[in-house]
Amino acid sequence: MTTRLYTHPVFLEHLTPPGHPERPDRLRAIERVLDDEAFSALDRVKAPEGDEATILYAHPEDFVARIRAAIPESGIVSIDADTSASPKSWQAAVTAIGAANAAVDDVFEGRAANVFVAARPPGHHAEKTTAMGFCLFNTAAIAARYAQKKHQAERVAIVDWDVHHGNGTQDIFWDDPSVLYCSTHQMPLYPGTGAKSETGVGNIVNAPLAPSTGSETFRDAFLSRVLPSIDAFAPDLIIISAGFDAHHRDPLAEINLTEDDFDWATGQLIDRAGRHSGNRLVSLLEGGYDLQGLAFSVAAHVGRLMKG
Ligand SMILES: [Zn+2]
Repeated sequence: MTTRLYTHPVFLEHLTPPGHPERPDRLRAIERVLDDEAFSALDRVKAPEGDEATILYAHPEDFVARIRAAIPESGIVSIDADTSASPKSWQAAVTAIGAANAAVDDVFEGRAANVFVAARPPGHHAEKTTAMGFCLFNTAAIAARYAQKKHQAERVAIVDWDVHHGNGTQDIFWDDPSVLYCSTHQMPLYPGTGAKSETGVGNIVNAPLAPSTGSETFRDAFLSRVLPSIDAFAPDLIIISAGFDAHHRDPLAEINLTEDDFDWATGQLIDRAGRHSGNRLVSLLEGGYDLQGLAFSVAAHVGRLMKG
């Protein structure tokens, strides 16, 4: 068994306005770096068509209808100040969900040791009833609920190391003790949530990082807050909301991580998945806006997933 990688050409067809950081070139940079011989053992699979009904696992029907109605026939429309949609955005978002759910199937049915989903748009800012922060639907939240419904997972942990707080994931699971949400993120920074005092029903663990900090504070937050919470929770599945915008080159934030930190954090979660989750680990791309920082970080992350 090896690491599986889901991609799909439609992920390049979700278009954002000129100069927008969340752009198709992000996936092209990832594709180029994973073309290297070092990744020849990756099990590359085209993402399946998503099942639209699974969007309802995390969002109400009227919200889903509102997003569908907002998709333009041509051009690009604004959903909010940062979030936009183009004609193929619906298909891209639903295919991202299809890939994440298929990844859950793969790790529960033994088709892959672990899985990385290189999709866009990202998802962790999408709240139950609000699309925001470049996100339309909350892919990680849907995949967690999918694991519970389809594979009888009792407890799912979502670990979010994107530099922005995943307000959407927190919102969706705020009063749901069957899902643990752990986030490291810069604070203060968009979207403004993610204080340590936000704990849900004891299932939300926020580890805010001060601007200009780096490897040491990140690893300390992981060791002192994230990993002990996972150990206490003993999840049946770990999902990573894998944003790479805490990299020191990233233009949207001021945290100074390197590729080595993502390698290390990946290793820690592989270890926890081995201890608690039957090795079941699914990683979903979120942010990461410097193309070189993103590509090198994804290479370190996927390389570590492949080592197992
Ligand atoms: Zn981010």
